[in-house]
Amino acid sequence: MLIVNDEQRLRAGIGSMSKRCQYCSKALAAYPLILSDDARLAVYHAACAAELVVAVRKRKGQIQAMIFGWGRWYPVESVSIERLVVVAPVAS
Ligand SMILES: [Zn+2]
Repeated sequence: MLIVNDEQRLRAGIGSMSKRCQYCSKALAAYPLILSDDARLAVYHAACAAELVVAVRKRKGQIQAMIFGWGRWYPVESVSIERLVVVAPVAS
């Protein structure tokens, strides 16, 4: 779930912006945030959740992302590729 303001944050059960991001361990501090919808109620900076995307697909017109460790596909508005790292084996 995407959280962009105090009202959404409080409704999601996150009482304070001093709670720490599950990924980078820094205080949440600013929006947007992503709340995983599993039982842990883990919260991430949106940029940190994006770091954890391992796959993207389109099903029935909807873009979905697989986030490492979350165990299912999540609907996303859009996908942009900002960085591509290719590691090629080096011949010895
Ligand atoms: Zn973070």
